[in-house]
Order: sequence, then structure tokens, then C-alpha cells
Amino acid sequence: MRRYSMSVLLVAGMAAALGSMDANASGPFVDVRSVDPTITVELRYAGRNNFLGHPLYPLGTRALARPEVALALAVAQAFLQRYQCGLKIWDAYRPAAVQAKLWEAAHNSDYVANPEIGVGSLHSWGIAVDATLVDSWDRPVRMPSDFDDFTPAAMWRYVGSSDEIRAHVRLLQYAMHRAGFWGLRTEWWHFTIADWQKYLPPEKAKSAAQVLGTRWEGRL
Ligand SMILES: [Zn+2]
Repeated sequence: MRRYSMSVLLVAGMAAALGSMDANASGPFVDVRSVDPTITVELRYAGRNNFLGHPLYPLGTRALARPEVALALAVAQAFLQRYQCGLKIWDAYRPAAVQAKLWEAAHNSDYVANPEIGVGSLHSWGIAVDATLVDSWDRPVRMPSDFDDFTPAAMWRYVGSSDEIRAHVRLLQYAMHRAGFWGLRTEWWHFTIADWQKYLPPEKAKSAAQVLGTRWEGRL
């Protein structure tokens, strides 16, 4: 417990530094791996393997989230480990400046939140994560699509014919749902903490609820 508190404090300091650059970053944030080191992290915007083809994050960027979100991820991870699987985080806290770059590049509000509208992306508040499954050897398993696949294959509800892929995506979604996350209709990998509104200023939470309310997916 003491170690956990220390890491919260340490990363809170780092988030305060980030916060000075980002109006949305109301922190404190923690490094997800400081809460559960068994969670795999591969931040796709930290390298070239993303739809822009170049890094948007500085080298060494960690997966940050609100402490409650990191703890919920640890709950999902513990459940997945019973099935010889685990989480791989593709993205977590995303600075608003990076969100603006993604919006510029994609300009598709089904997949990328417009930073000009409402609260922008809930990633920029440390309360949404992008996650996929790996096996117990950290190897990727077959999922419906790659990250940021802006095609119907990215939809929450898998309609393809592979029983293996269906089982994987359902396991991920079930684990995340029971740990306290909602999904997004258009992206099987995107998860928001269910009580997300409490982390936003009340007027922002209300307007965001109107925009986002129809896009959630919960149970299978
Ligand atoms: Zn996302």
C-alpha cells in the first residue's frame, strides 16, 4: 500500500508538469504499470505504427490515467489472467495538443473526437483507454481489427465469422465491463470509466453526456 501511495505521489508530480501544458489535464495521473506491472503497454502514438506513420509522443512516454482508472484496469487484468490473457494498452492519457493533431489528420467524428466540441476526447482527461488482448506470453491474439482501423471492422459488435476472434473480443469487453468500463459503438478497443462524468466540471459533463450518450456500449 505504501509503495502504491509513493508511486501515486511521484506520478502526480509528473502529471502536474504535464498539466501546465494541457488545460484538460486536471490530474493526478498515475503510470498504469506502477499500479499493475503485469499490464503490457505499447503506446501506438509513441512510435510509427499508427495511422499518421510518425510518433506523436516523446520517447519514453508512459501510459498515464486517473488512479481510479488504473485500479479498474488492474481488476480487468486479474480477471483476464484467469483465462491466460492480459491487457495491452494502446493509448491512455492523451494531451489535448495530440488530440488536435489526430483530428486534423482524420476529420472523422465517428472515430476521433473533435477537440473543439465539448470536452474533446475523454482520453485527455485520463479517463479513457484503448486496450487489446495479449496471451500469457505477451503475444498478440487475433482481434477484429488493428488499432485505429477506421472501417466497419472496428465496430464494438463483432459480426465476422471467426469464433476465435469473437471469443477474444467478448472476453476483453466482458472483463472491462465488469471492471467498470463502458465501450464505444465504433471502436472495440476504446473504454471509458463508467462514472466518467464525475471527473469533469459539471457543465462540461452535461454537454458531453448529450454528445456521447448515444455512442456507449455496455453489456454484450
Ligand atoms: Zn480511445
